[in-house]
Order: sequence, then structure tokens, then C-alpha cells
Amino acid sequence: MTEDSRLIVVAGGGGFIGGYLVAELRKRGFSQIRSVDIKPIDEWYQVFDDVENLVMDLKRLDHCHTACRDAWEVYNLAADMGGMGFIENNKALCMLSVLINTHLLEAAQAAKVERFFYASSACVYNGEKQQETDVTALSEDDAYPALAEDGYGWEKLFSERMCRHFMEDFGMTTRVARFHNVYGPLGTWDGGREKAPAAISRKVIEAVARDGDEIEIWGDGEQTRSFMYIDDCIKGIDLIMHSDIIEPINLGSSELVSINELVDIVEQIADVTLQRNYNLDAPKGVRGRNSDNTKIQGYLGWEPDTPLRDGMAATYQWIRGEYLKREEVSSDS
Ligand code: NAD
Repeated sequence: MTEDSRLIVVAGGGGFIGGYLVAELRKRGFSQIRSVDIKPIDEWYQVFDDVENLVMDLKRLDHCHTACRDAWEVYNLAADMGGMGFIENNKALCMLSVLINTHLLEAAQAAKVERFFYASSACVYNGEKQQETDVTALSEDDAYPALAEDGYGWEKLFSERMCRHFMEDFGMTTRVARFHNVYGPLGTWDGGREKAPAAISRKVIEAVARDGDEIEIWGDGEQTRSFMYIDDCIKGIDLIMHSDIIEPINLGSSELVSINELVDIVEQIADVTLQRNYNLDAPKGVRGRNSDNTKIQGYLGWEPDTPLRDGMAATYQWIRGEYLKREEVSSDS
């Protein structure tokens, strides 16, 4: 492996996807990586001593200028976000992430970066096209006419357009991927920001550990989604960043499952069957959502393909380890 000394900036490097991206860039031989996040370093999921780790608020333009200084490429994975429970109840906070992408774009332009990556979301898609469980997979054109997820989705849609206009008006090379639910080890699994794969894993682990026989499911469990394993996401980010694809593109699995089927998978991994209690008042998001991967296949000859069963087994084992560590600490104190 030859060393590459061009400076790469990962905004949100203390988060789930950002942490994996930093790890991957190190593996690929980049010797100058700057990882930036607002959280204290001891809360980052992955920290590397040979990386320049900066704690900064990227909503601030001055911090973005410092973060982007001398950068060759910038990846924006920083956002105030979480699962449905978080985004339905924190719309203003989600929308304030617009400051992060706006100021990062300005600073990246001033630093004359070669390429800029923005992490958008399937939450930009028109809600009216997601009202059935056997939903037609969402193709890139389905974002318009616009009726995005309130708060979080509108911010993503606006920020996508900012990237487009920086490209059109200022000649900056920007790339945008619309992530569909990303999951895997080393991510949020408790505390209110976790997403369905982690939340269901944790609930099953808790039930087993406490000899319980019940699990609470948000909604009636028939709502459908697709889930992309983190390794596929990281590969896709690299392919899209270094492609000629100028419009926002789906990056997600097309393996559609209901939440009940996801619970089945986790129960099989844990070798347990639990009584399901459906909480119909809990946040549930759209009724059905899947990724149409025609474009990514056409452009790149590739799409995310880690089987859900395999990815969930790795995720479950990691969360179980974290859960047991936490229980051990609390029983010692
Ligand atoms: P994450 O919450 O683990 O990571 C985001 C990071 O951004 C966090 O560590 C957070 O501290 C940091 N951050 C927030 N505000 C900041 C600020 N003002 N300054 C600096 N850092 C700040 O989330 P993730 O799952 O790694 O998501 C990464 C990106 O991908 C986000 O833009 C998210 O919206 C997008 N996305 C994720 C998913 C998914 O399923 N995980 C799906 C669609 C889109």
C-alpha cells in the first residue's frame, strides 16, 4: 500500500458512519486525516491516535474554515439526527443541521477542495409515495414534487440543492448519496437516537438478560423498510464520491422487510421467541420504504448486498457485548 498524504476531512467522524469512514481511509493509506465532531472525544465510536481529531461545532463558519484548511476532500457526515423517535420530536434541531452543510460548503469552496460529499437520506422522498407496506421502491425522481419528512427530510432536501448550486454556480465538485437506513456495530444502540435494527436488538437482549418474555414494537410491525450494512455503505460512499454522478443517488439495500420480519431475524439469532406488544401510539414513520437501485447498478455496476441476516448477527453480538459491559459496571458500583 502506498502512502497518500493528501488531507481528507471527515465531518461527523465521531459518529457511526463517520467513524467507519475514517477507519477505511486509514486502511487505504491516507496519512493525513482530520476527523471533526461536536461530541467530547470519549463519546466517539472510533478514535485513532494517528488521525487529527478535532472537537468543534460545525454549525459555526469559523470552525468550518479551521476544519477545511488545506483539505483535498471533505466528507460531510455530521448532522443532529437519530431514529424515528428522535426526528419526529426534534424537528428544529434536525433543521439546524442546515448550518453545518451550508458553512462546510462555504469553507470547502474557500479551501478549493477537490471533492465534497454530502450524506443525504431517504427521508427526502415524497411521503405520499410511501403509504403502503408493499411500496414501490423509491427511485431518485420520487423526491419531487417535494413532500419530504417534516424537519429532518426538508433539511436534507435543501442541503442537497445547496450542493447542486455550489457545483453549478461555483464549479465545485459535489456528490450526494441518499442513504437508506444504515446499521451495524459501533453505532447508537440506546438513549433515544437509535434506529430500529439497534433498538430491536437491544430490546431482545434486555428481555433475554432479565428472563422476560415480552417485547414492545413501535406500530403494528407491518411497516416495511430496507436496511444497509455499514460495510456496504462505506464502499458506496467511496464509489459515489469518485464517480461522475452529479445528481443525488440512492445508497441503500433493496431487501424489503417488515419490522415483524426484522424481529423474527433477531429472535432467531438470539434463539428466543417473545410475546410482541404493539405500541400504536409510538413514532412509526412512513408505512413502507425501499430503495430502487436501478441507477446505482447502471452507473457503478454495484449495489449494497450484505444479507440482512448476516449483518444483524454481527450487530446483535456487538450490542450484546456493550450491554453486558454496562450491566457489569453498574453491578460493580
Ligand atoms: P451519527 O449521529 O452517529 O453521526 C453524526 C455525527 O455528527 C455525530 O457524532 C454528531 O455528534 C455529529 N454532529 C452533530 N452536530 C454536529 C456539529 N454541529 N458539529 C460537528 N459534529 C456534529 O449518525 P450517522 O448514522 O453516522 O449518520 C451520518 C450521516 O448520514 C448524517 O448526515 C445522517 O443524517 C446521514 N444518514 C444516516 C442514516 C443512518 O441510517 N444511519 C440514514 C440516512 C442518512
